[in-house]
Amino acid sequence: MQDDPVGSYPEEWVAAFAEIHERPFRAKQVFRWIHTRSVADPEKMTDVARTLREKLATWNMAMPAEIREVRRAVDDTRKVLVGFPRSGHPGTVETVLIPPMPDDDPDDESDDEPAAPVSGLRVAPRRVTQCISSQVGCAMGCVFCASGVAGLKRHLTAGEIVAQVLLGRTLLDEGEAIRNVVLMGMGEPLHNYDAVSRALRLLTHHDGLDLSTRRVTVSTSGLVPEIDRLGEEFGGEIALAISLHAPDDELRTRIMPVNKKYPLTELIPALRRYPLARRRRITIEYTLIRGVNDQPSHAKALVRLLRGLPMKVNLIPMNPIESAPWQGPERDDVLAFQDIVRNEAGCAVFIRRTRGDEIDAACGQLALRGAKPVKRSLPTIGARDGRP
Ligand code: SAH
Ligand code: SF4
Repeated sequence: MQDDPVGSYPEEWVAAFAEIHERPFRAKQVFRWIHTRSVADPEKMTDVARTLREKLATWNMAMPAEIREVRRAVDDTRKVLVGFPRSGHPGTVETVLIPPMPDDDPDDESDDEPAAPVSGLRVAPRRVTQCISSQVGCAMGCVFCASGVAGLKRHLTAGEIVAQVLLGRTLLDEGEAIRNVVLMGMGEPLHNYDAVSRALRLLTHHDGLDLSTRRVTVSTSGLVPEIDRLGEEFGGEIALAISLHAPDDELRTRIMPVNKKYPLTELIPALRRYPLARRRRITIEYTLIRGVNDQPSHAKALVRLLRGLPMKVNLIPMNPIESAPWQGPERDDVLAFQDIVRNEAGCAVFIRRTRGDEIDAACGQLALRGAKPVKRSLPTIGARDGRP
């Protein structure tokens, strides 16, 4: 417990407090200070008895993460560089606060509040989505991704994952509230399963932030056993996003080495058996790379591959990174791709604009500024698929 107070469940606080002869309601009080008010320093917990505060002063109570830099884009996206003050916890990650987008999924059936301020006295909060990281770097090695190129430095602890949201909350503007949390920052969340699962339980705990499980999304490059485990452990309640990026094994393995271990013949059945709640859909993420995976033939193959899966598709134009030769797609190719998938699969297909471009808002780009890429050879880019 004392190793990671911010990553501890209420019942673990109760057990630890029993050992120092403190009552269970005191444990809950401290848990609430941390998780509903972002306060971890016992001295600031004003309604906690002085004798208890003195005992806690000898514990390792400090917030396990700290804000190192905040950059705000013209669209109010806030990109935050996060460091870890504890010794033995090196590295930085990033978390991003994203205000509602004009093209936010209009048919997201989990939205039970109006998006715009309502008339009258009560004004609905502006719903902010926070993107958080799960590891320093990433071991998956996707060739278009800055985190992948850097390699894995270490797993974050549950407390370090939760603390990103607790810190993010302190950066909200008046009238904003965090409504959605997506694990789409640095790292592969399912490669750090235990800490991520603990963080999910804490973020959705009714004595804490109490986020709705359906508003928390785990994005994965496709670790099949852990997708099954997540589905089982949370009964399909946690929203799932799959980074697919290619419609066949040959191409997918070229840009995502993890496909060698879990090819599409294993990944797609895992998506089909994920115990999705009724009316929920899996999000398919597809980063479009110019001349590599962005042609009509790819869109058609994608539709065939995913036939019958309850899904929505997010097309993400690739944000160029220094260490890879590839470029974002041409606008016309993005629109053509969207048309084909929308018409032939009959599902919602969104184009995710890169937000806050001028602040390096793509995955891993702020935390990795100036970092040296690990040396490895890039796969060669294939023929341009029907282009002159
Ligand atoms: N590891 C997880 C979550 C973090 S990456 C995953 O891969 O799903 C979040 C998303 O950003 C993924 O869909 C990833 O493919 C995408 N991404 C990474 N680098 C990108 C880039 N340079 N341009 C556009 N999207 C990128
Ligand atoms: Fe890791 Fe996701 Fe980047 Fe792939 S896209 S290297 S899985 S963070």
